[in-house]
Amino acid sequence: MTCKDCDKNIGRQEYESSQNSLGVELCKKHTSLIKKVILENNTPLEAIHLFYALKAAGANPMLEWWDGKKSVDIAISRVKLNIEIDRDYATITHEQAISDLEQAMQSFQNGFTTIRIPNIAVKYYLKDTVNNILGIIEGLKANIKVV
Ligand SMILES: [Zn+2]
Repeated sequence: MTCKDCDKNIGRQEYESSQNSLGVELCKKHTSLIKKVILENNTPLEAIHLFYALKAAGANPMLEWWDGKKSVDIAISRVKLNIEIDRDYATITHEQAISDLEQAMQSFQNGFTTIRIPNIAVKYYLKDTVNNILGIIEGLKANIKVV
């Protein structure tokens, strides 16, 4: 068993405590680091799962990346892709809905692409979600080369 972040070997206790609290295998140091990130940013657990799945796929993601105005759940900086995990659509307010769209417009004007992924896609189709994001990264890379 190894830490999904630093590849360090982890013991059974570290494995169980990180799996039970976060659902990802992490060493003691990275478990407390991720818990701190969650506390500070209210990061959904799905963002943590997606972050480590993208990391394992070689996408070089960054967790809770500060774009100058707000923290983005996950960013792929080399193609300027921002990924936000959406919680329950049923509980979203109309103010939140239009504010999300405005933020997407602003980051688009600054050269960033923002995609919003429903948390249930990550929860039930993690592999498909990762494959689609990898496809988006490839597409963005191709567009960057054209320009
Ligand atoms: Zn670690």
